[in-house]
Amino acid sequence: MSEATRVAAFFDVDRTLIAVNSGELWVRHLWRSGRLSPAWALRSLLWIGQYRLGLLDFEGVIARVAADYRGRDAREVAAEITRFFDAEIASSLCVEGPQRIAEHRAAGHEVALLTSGSRFMAEPVAARLGVEHILCSELEIDDAGVLTGRHQPPACGGAGKIVHAERLAAALGVDLARSFFYTDSYTDLPMLAKVGHPRVINPDARLRRLARARGWEIEAWKPA
Ligand SMILES: [Mg+2]
Repeated sequence: MSEATRVAAFFDVDRTLIAVNSGELWVRHLWRSGRLSPAWALRSLLWIGQYRLGLLDFEGVIARVAADYRGRDAREVAAEITRFFDAEIASSLCVEGPQRIAEHRAAGHEVALLTSGSRFMAEPVAARLGVEHILCSELEIDDAGVLTGRHQPPACGGAGKIVHAERLAAALGVDLARSFFYTDSYTDLPMLAKVGHPRVINPDARLRRLARARGWEIEAWKPA
């Protein structure tokens, strides 16, 4: 077994690298274009509320979303979400994100996205920022490029983020105790506690209180 001597910087996406929640905006986009049933709209509102309260069952949500995408062509979904990203999300990229990524890269650190969102939403972000590692919730795609209706557990939210981060750390020889994690959300507390350098960006109220109590650095990031 190789020694873990490298350092990584993990970045949450929604309300950290970008100033908005892409999942919420995607739901709104679907609603406005008449492609979200009232039942799905209600379900989505419930999930958004649960997320804000730190009560969201990430595994259950990703499983439900994966089921809804069953039979869709992954390349078509990717193209549609990339268009949505370019039109409605890209302008919300915070200026501090690329600066911090450049600093970590200059220091020889690995840089990774660590997001509960899908690869469809994470890939345009990674491409825009030149980030090579994407850790995200994975919808299963078959050999023909079709979404199977299942996901590959664990979902990359809450404590699930640790599983994804540890996998990458093992592959690259990264020591999490020397690594960084940037996020806005109280739901990311497990992973914040796992790294040696937790960084709290635009935190929600609960995370702000906790960060103050623990003496963690708090930063305000914003788009240009
Ligand atoms: Mg976030």
